[in-house]
Amino acid sequence: MENYIGPEGVLAKRRQYFYPCTSHFYRNPPQLVKGEMQYLYGHDGTCYTDFFAGVSVVASGHCNPEIVERTVEQLKTLQHTCTIYLTQPNVDLAERLAGVMPGGLSRTFFVNSGSEANEGALLLARLHTGRKGFLALEQGLHGRTYLTMSVTGLRMWRSDPQLAEPGKDAEDVTFIPQPYERGMSGDEAARRSIDALKAVLAEKGGEIAAMIAEPIQGNGGMIVPPDWYFPEVKALLEQYGVLLIADEIQTGFGRTGRMFAMDRWGVTPDILTMAKALGSGVPVAAFASTDDIAASFTRPSASTFGGNPVSSVTALAVLDYIEAHRLPERAEHLGGLLLAGLQALAARYPQLVSDVRGAGLMIGAELYADDSERGARLVDDVLEEMKDRGFIIGKNGVGRNVLAFQPPLVITEEDIAEMLAALDQALNSVHEAIGGNEHGVRA
Ligand code: PMP
Repeated sequence: MENYIGPEGVLAKRRQYFYPCTSHFYRNPPQLVKGEMQYLYGHDGTCYTDFFAGVSVVASGHCNPEIVERTVEQLKTLQHTCTIYLTQPNVDLAERLAGVMPGGLSRTFFVNSGSEANEGALLLARLHTGRKGFLALEQGLHGRTYLTMSVTGLRMWRSDPQLAEPGKDAEDVTFIPQPYERGMSGDEAARRSIDALKAVLAEKGGEIAAMIAEPIQGNGGMIVPPDWYFPEVKALLEQYGVLLIADEIQTGFGRTGRMFAMDRWGVTPDILTMAKALGSGVPVAAFASTDDIAASFTRPSASTFGGNPVSSVTALAVLDYIEAHRLPERAEHLGGLLLAGLQALAARYPQLVSDVRGAGLMIGAELYADDSERGARLVDDVLEEMKDRGFIIGKNGVGRNVLAFQPPLVITEEDIAEMLAALDQALNSVHEAIGGNEHGVRA
């Protein structure tokens, strides 16, 4: 075995050298040392089936040989030049993206992270409209730069105390309730959101540059709006000349059963942001728009790393892999199986699992929705149990009480069946630990 310092050693160094705010999953976290498609390996050789893919990042699998080989070849040939020099991989990638993005989105600006893509998109919207204000959904997450935190509704991701209260920051952001509320039907909650949007637009639509939204909220707890919601949002925004920025950073590249989640509803955003799965682990991100909107970006535009040859070749290899292996269709099919399996577990543990929801391979199971603090503790228990049974799953949601399933899209039916069997056992043991029959397991 290699010379690994082990989880305790890694934790000790993190405590000493990382910023204290750096958090990690698990009470007893493994030290991950190797990845192979849908599998991750700990320093002691333990194999984990990955059902979180680092929050949707590794859609085409860990260390996928078809992607790695092309990346390594490029790394050995031409590693870096900035966009001030002419190279081919980035123009090929931009052309390729124009072919898969909805509608007239044909211009791409390459950057390095999701936050940077959203930051660029927000600036572009201000430059194009000459307006300052932004609209965002109450429980959205858009990044960790100053401006992207300002449009992030989820409290726990707004870190500056001055930004802790939505609406109290300097960036002129108005938050709209999202199209989901426990106890309301999807249609009712979406109608409430639309009514709030209408009211804000009527009051100050002429001051607002853009609305930024995740088509399906990830960290907000896998919120899938009704089919009519985004088409109506887009039509309303158009009436006031407000741009729609679709943050597809978590949903893009097949995860939800379509190339982009907005495709599901036939909505073409004015600006689309992408990151995560595009690089399958290599940093690459972008914001994209139409010719007309792109023409407004008159600021200095060279990026040191954005569009570098290595990331661009990786992204091209990712797109080839997604296409050759029909990953969006795969996500739709396997997502159906996973959703049905989780719904069956919800029926078996009715007091534990309050709701199961999602699209494609982006699915959440909410625990103890009426007491999210308790739900969050149970989610941590389940995560730990599942890790010990060889499965990495995630967590999210406003109360951190949603189990998150976002596996690499190369996962198999067998992996899903095995995970569901382990989850049944994990829920059963958690359920016993919190008092057994009082919570009623259905046989
Ligand atoms: N938008 C969404 C929807 C995200 O999920 C994330 C990351 N979790 C971001 C933006 C920020 O991306 P990054 O961490 O690459 O800056």
